[in-house]
Amino acid sequence: MGREVASNFPKKEGIMKLRNGAEYIESLRQLRPRIYYKGQMIEDVTRHPATAPHVRAAAMTYALASKTKYKELATATSHLTGRTISRFTHIHQNIEDLIKKIKLLRVLGQKTGTCFQRCVGFDGINAVYSVAYEVDKKYGTDYMERFKQWLIRIQDDNLMVVGAMTDPKGDRSKGPADQSDPDQYVRVVERREDGVVIRGAKLHMTGAVNSHEILIMPTTALDERSRDYAIVCAIPIDAPGITLIFGRQAGDDRRDHLERIDVGKPRFGVVGGEAVIAFEDVFVPNERIFMNGETDYAGSLVYRFAAHHRANYGACKTGLMDVLTGAVSYLAQIQGTAKGSHIRDKVTEMIHLSETLYSSSIACSAEGQPTPSGAYLVDTMLANVCKQNVTRFHFEVARLATDIAGGFIATMPSEYDLESEAVGHLVEKYFSGVSEIPVKERIKIGRLIEAMTGGTAMVESMHGAGSPQAQRIMIFREGRLAEKIKLAKALAGIPGKGKGKAAGGGNK
Ligand code: SF4
Ligand code: FE
Repeated sequence: MGREVASNFPKKEGIMKLRNGAEYIESLRQLRPRIYYKGQMIEDVTRHPATAPHVRAAAMTYALASKTKYKELATATSHLTGRTISRFTHIHQNIEDLIKKIKLLRVLGQKTGTCFQRCVGFDGINAVYSVAYEVDKKYGTDYMERFKQWLIRIQDDNLMVVGAMTDPKGDRSKGPADQSDPDQYVRVVERREDGVVIRGAKLHMTGAVNSHEILIMPTTALDERSRDYAIVCAIPIDAPGITLIFGRQAGDDRRDHLERIDVGKPRFGVVGGEAVIAFEDVFVPNERIFMNGETDYAGSLVYRFAAHHRANYGACKTGLMDVLTGAVSYLAQIQGTAKGSHIRDKVTEMIHLSETLYSSSIACSAEGQPTPSGAYLVDTMLANVCKQNVTRFHFEVARLATDIAGGFIATMPSEYDLESEAVGHLVEKYFSGVSEIPVKERIKIGRLIEAMTGGTAMVESMHGAGSPQAQRIMIFREGRLAEKIKLAKALAGIPGKGKGKAAGGGNK
């Protein structure tokens, strides 16, 4: 525990240890995480067909930082050391930082067409930083100092952190302390002089198998009986006692043959590559513990993390929608339908929805405020509205894309048939579009649209960063209904007394 990660990498003074995508990929080969997929152990995540696309998508976050054109967006100056760091390890110091993050995520969405995973740890780092400061102020603890020491190493070595929040939750009608199986939420099972031992699991962990470190956070507000569940700590991904189980995705068998045209997005995965992380009595030394029993701060931590992450979706998903809009527009051209007025109208609607979504991401960042620690937090109401819009607009954009593309995206024969002596000529003949375009090109674009509108990709848009109902609860809670009632009463000439407070709260 607490040992160096990727320590074989020579570090030049003042330069991030992992400087580009290739070095990131190489650093993963130095780690030995215990990862299972379809019942088998994955030896090398960078080469296994199920995980390699996700590694490449995350590598893009490293690659961009080394390109002059994107340096301004992809890097930042650490407020802790003054050194140049990846923006994905930065604590937002002002509104400009919040907006640059949004712009960066859109570019990455456009370049990968998928989830590049690194934002979860980024948001976790920012949420923990601001909350550790407040816990220390109240309880006289030294979490902030520990966290800063850990964070400086993450920044200098340019490591990828998986933000681990979602617990299995067992019986949803009960909280952590009332579960018949107490391990349904990650908890401390033993307290020692030099640290704690934790047990439990985190589910749906985006980018977990190709991260260097895990940042564990509680998943919900906690009452006093749940002290053992109020644990925030960091653990190396290959620490003893950790097992990862990588999830299946629609079409994952196709990825065993990346050179085929049936894959859709050959280089990058469908979504983030989600995994279960199980903790079977994992020891965490004190210097890696950033909350330990302060139940009254669990709610704020979850809330801040969620707000940061919900703000992202109006950017990364907009990047995906840009790709989808481009894909159907090109398909329409090569099918000879691009000039149809209804096609132009649908493409216009797709652009309109994408830009509307993006504007809520920018808006919640522009309206950000400093927390007591100095770290900036997005406007939480607008961030919830942003993510709620994703659960509608991305689906509407996918619907329009499917509409424009036509049924062939669901019925195309595979490349094996195209190449078959027996039926290849039939596929060639009946899946062609306008004469000068090779049939393979039409199939490739069709597969891209299929990959970006189908099952797994869309589920992520619905439930990632919290299911729609989670945002609706926050929208109602922060809706300032009492103030709105007051406005209405004043205009209608109704005296101010009486019921000013709306049912269910509504005061910010
Ligand atoms: Fe980042 Fe979007 Fe993936 Fe979340 S879904 S980790 S915000 S790219
Ligand atoms: Fe996500």
